[in-house]
Amino acid sequence: METGDWDSYEFKLITPHSSLLTFPIPHSLLPTPHFMDLKSLVRDIPDFPKPGILFRDITTLLRDPEGLRYTIDFLTQKCNEAEITVDYVIGIESRGFIFGSPLAYKLGAGFIPVRKRGKLPAAIHSIEYELEYGTDCLEVHQDALHQGSRVLIVDDLIATGGTASATAKLVQKIGCELVGFGFIIELRDLQGRAYLPDVPIISLIEY
Ligand code: AMP
Repeated sequence: METGDWDSYEFKLITPHSSLLTFPIPHSLLPTPHFMDLKSLVRDIPDFPKPGILFRDITTLLRDPEGLRYTIDFLTQKCNEAEITVDYVIGIESRGFIFGSPLAYKLGAGFIPVRKRGKLPAAIHSIEYELEYGTDCLEVHQDALHQGSRVLIVDDLIATGGTASATAKLVQKIGCELVGFGFIIELRDLQGRAYLPDVPIISLIEY
C-alpha cells in the first residue's frame, strides 16, 4: 500500500499520562460516508467513441478509494432494501465485471461473467441481439447457471437497454429466476428500463 493511502486520516489516542499518540489508519478501516456525490466522480467525455456520444467515464470514480467503496456499499444497501436475495450476480462484459464481483462478495453470492463472442473457454449458451448497426452476441458457460438459479444482472450503465435486455433473455432461456438489475448509471432519456422485464431495477446515478 502506498503511503498516500495512509496519511490522510489519523487515529488519536490519549494515554493515561495525557500524552497524545497518533497512528495512521488505512482507508479500508474507515466507515463508509453517509452521502457522497457520486456524479461528481464520473467524468464526461464528449464525442467518444464516436461523434455525438457523451461517454460517462467511470474510471475516475473507480480510482477514488472512498468513491469506490461507497458505490459498492450503496449498491449492496439498495439490493438489501429491495429484499433481493441471489445465488449469482451476473456481470456483463466488461465494466459489469468491475462492479458485479464485489457486489456478489457483499451479497454472499457467486459471480458469473457474461462475455462477448468467443471469450469463454467451455461450452456456452449464447444470444444474438441488435445493435444500431448489425448484431452482437453474448455468451455464458453452460455449466454456470441452472434452471431456478436466482440471478441479478449488473452493468456499469444502462442506455437503450439492449445489452441488459439481451442478458435477461439469455438467463431466462436457461430457466433462471431473474430477481433484478443493478446499474451504477442510468441514462433516463433513453428509457432503457422500459425494455427490461418487470423486476426491481436499481441505479445509483441518473442523467
Ligand atoms: P445499452 O445496450 O444501449 O443499454 O448500452 C449499455 C452498454 O453500453 C453498457 O455496457 C455501457 O458500458 C455502454 N454505454 C452505452 N452508452 C454509454 C455512455 N454514454 N457512456 C458510457 N458507456 C456507455
